[in-house]
Amino acid sequence: MIIKERKPPLSIQKLQVMLRRLPKNHPKIQQLQEEYSRATIGYRGEQALDYHLTFIEEFEHLILHNIRLLNSQKYYFQLDTLILTPYFILNLETKNISGTLFFDQDFHQLIRTLDEKEEAFPDPILQIQRQESQLKSWLAKYKVPQIPITSKVVISNPLSIIKTQSHYAKVVKEKVIHLALIWNEIEKLHSKYSVEIIPMKDLKKIARQLVKCHIPYNPNYFNKYQIKQSDILTGVHCPNCNHLPMVRMKGIWFCGNCKTNSLDAHINSIYDYSLLYGPMITNKQLRQFLNLRSISISNKLLNSLNCKKIGERKGRYYQLPELEG
Ligand SMILES: [Zn+2]
Repeated sequence: MIIKERKPPLSIQKLQVMLRRLPKNHPKIQQLQEEYSRATIGYRGEQALDYHLTFIEEFEHLILHNIRLLNSQKYYFQLDTLILTPYFILNLETKNISGTLFFDQDFHQLIRTLDEKEEAFPDPILQIQRQESQLKSWLAKYKVPQIPITSKVVISNPLSIIKTQSHYAKVVKEKVIHLALIWNEIEKLHSKYSVEIIPMKDLKKIARQLVKCHIPYNPNYFNKYQIKQSDILTGVHCPNCNHLPMVRMKGIWFCGNCKTNSLDAHINSIYDYSLLYGPMITNKQLRQFLNLRSISISNKLLNSLNCKKIGERKGRYYQLPELEG
């Protein structure tokens, strides 16, 4: 049973908004594009794992995607995929890295060789060990009975070649698996841990607590890349081709580029506003962002969102729907 669905993380959503709302010749476009490509490759690897997990027994497994929690030292730790069962917990960290992957356990780094070029990444084995110990202390804080926890690095690209120093082969084989073997791993864990430690009823409570404590990673790309808010292009973007701005004619949004018509294209653009500037908006801010002249149309669009209103008249703020990631 999936308790928390995987959705594109806020970081990816925000990069998408920036990329469609900055002029094509903006000096930071290339850096944003690079960060966006890296993030989406990782996300695609996680989605590939999700597909394999659809085959596991529904009622015995609670699956949580993308959980980010605060540890006791007030630092965040993030778990790609967590599988809770009454017998054990499985933490999976997906890596979608192509090429030959050398797990260097002397210097704790992952060296990828692709097209005769070497590139270093942080050691994912060290990463899952840290996640596991942080998860253990988090569970202890919430008085969860001690349950076996296993962590694996899942290589989602079937063509990647896994290598290591010969004397570390056993360690790496134990911790790193190809995606196609996930099913065998889960079966192995079921035969290894067959004693029920947490009944399903309690396990669901723990899963709900994990979801409640999840705080999505919400980076500020204006600060990170020193981008001015005034660089952002305004208007309703086309849901089909991302063209800016659509023109409003008789209550319908029209795209001059691909000729798409839409009744509700403004909803996605209001979500863009929320990703860029946060969840509160005034009528005036909406008019500026969507290039609307009429206060009453702006009011109508805001009211159609059924959002909470705070304050009166010109000082009134509308609370936009919560971001999901
Ligand atoms: Zn269009």
